[in-house]
This record gives sequence, C-alpha cells and structure tokens, in this order.
Amino acid sequence: MEGATFVGAKKLANGGVVFDCVDEKMADWVKARNVMIQFTSALGGTCTYRPRRQELVVEMVPFDAHVEDAGTWRMVERESGQVPGCIEETHWIKPPQFRSPTQKVGHMKVSFATAEGANHAIDNGLWLGGVCLKARKPEDEARRCARCQSYDGHLARDCKAAANACARCAGEYRTADCMMVDSSTFSCANCKVTGHGAADRSCPVFQKEQTKKKARDPTAGYRYFPTADPRTWANRRLEEQAWGGWPAVLRGKEAEGSVTEGGLRFRRSEQWGLRAPCDQETV
Ligand SMILES: [Zn+2]
Ligand SMILES: [Zn+2]
Ligand SMILES: [Zn+2]
Repeated sequence: MEGATFVGAKKLANGGVVFDCVDEKMADWVKARNVMIQFTSALGGTCTYRPRRQELVVEMVPFDAHVEDAGTWRMVERESGQVPGCIEETHWIKPPQFRSPTQKVGHMKVSFATAEGANHAIDNGLWLGGVCLKARKPEDEARRCARCQSYDGHLARDCKAAANACARCAGEYRTADCMMVDSSTFSCANCKVTGHGAADRSCPVFQKEQTKKKARDPTAGYRYFPTADPRTWANRRLEEQAWGGWPAVLRGKEAEGSVTEGGLRFRRSEQWGLRAPCDQETV
C-alpha cells in the first residue's frame, strides 16, 4: 500500500505491542490475512497477531452459573442479542481461593471481539440464567507497586523501598509467600488498618489515588468504546460540566428523565431511581 505509515506503537505490560495506523483504511489493509503474515514475519519469527479485544467488567456473576463452560457463554450471547462467538475470554477478577465462605457472586472480566458487542452489553446487560447482569467498562486503576504497595507511580521493577510489603498482611515479604487467606484478618500496608489488604478497592488510600487519577485522565468518563456511531462519543464528565454539576443520565435510551424537587428522576436498566444533584457516580 502506497504511503502506509504507523503513527505510533505502544508496548503493553504483557509483552504485546499495539500499532496505531494513520487511518482506518490502512488498518484494514494491514489486517488482511496475506499482509499480516508478511508484517509479523518481518517483525521476527515469534510474533503473532491478535485483534484488540474490548474488555468489560460484568458484575455479580453467580458462582454456580457454570461460567467455566464455553456453552454457557454461547447461551448468554443468544439470550442477550449478541453476535454468536463475540464473547472471547472470561475470568474471575478475584481468584476463587480468596472468596469468603458466605460469598455467592463475584465480578468477572469478559472480553468481546468487537467494540459494538461490548457497547451492546453496556447498554443492555448480559442475560445469564434469567438474570440480567450489569456490564461496564473497567476503571483505569491507580497504579500500585506490587513490591512495596506504594501509589507513588513506580512499578515493582523500579522499587527502591528497603523491604517488601505483603499486599495482604503488610508483612515484610512477598505477597506470594503469605499464608493468610481470611480477608477479615488482613492488614493494609498503606492505611495501616486491619480488615482489608493493600489491594482492596475500599481502602481510603486507594480511593484517594483513584480520584486523583480520574481528574488527570482525559479518557475517564467515556461510557462506551468509541465506534463510528456518534452516540458512543458521549463523555459523562464533559456533559456533567455542561449541566452545571448534574449527572448526565439524560442521554439516548435514558432520555426519559425529569428534574424533580428531590433531584433528578431517571430511568436506567428498567428501574426508576432518584439521584440528588452532584451525586458522584462510579463509571
Ligand atoms: Zn515499590
Ligand atoms: Zn501477608
Ligand atoms: Zn488501606
């Protein structure tokens, strides 16, 4: 292809590289099978091509829903109006060995082959065994050093801390060597409180870092994966500013809201709720 250029390349933590093409036409050309074979072999013998997947967090998935079975996900696709096969990969966010005995549901990461499939799930949820599960984009989390648990921005390989700090009990060894399993006895290396580990999202230190990160991140607040459909370009934070602090829930399918004395009445997921002005919403 004449004049085909890459405008950027980003190395991922998993060893992969994302290439940015100058436009969609060029991206389609590179992805064509015969061109891709030449491209990957020019990069080196062990390179392989994997299309970029769109990952969502699916909330409150029942542990007894047989999610390890691929057939379950084919059924989810059918019942949720998704394209067959568009759910490509799924895993529990928290490893099963750290579940508390009374826990019955957990969050999962679910990868979609296309942005359209992921956006459809954000809008309509995923139907699993007669229950509609909420799906949302994962938050870009504040980065914590895996060795000393600090949020100051460094990674474990650059860690200069004098000792390790365990993410579960704050002991001076690697988290992998920790014998603790009961989360109620965990101790946090960051806020020094017992009852949660440093990896816990309810930790006040994590929440403060997360707020700071969101304020800096220009992509925070995008509810959808952007596609050619302009509806997916909506940015909640920018809309909130335009509304003078009112949460922007009046959009697209949610355009049935009305302002009442107590706050903003809105419809979401077939339910009516009442939201006070300036209420923070987690995306
Ligand atoms: Zn560190
Ligand atoms: Zn420990
Ligand atoms: Zn904490």
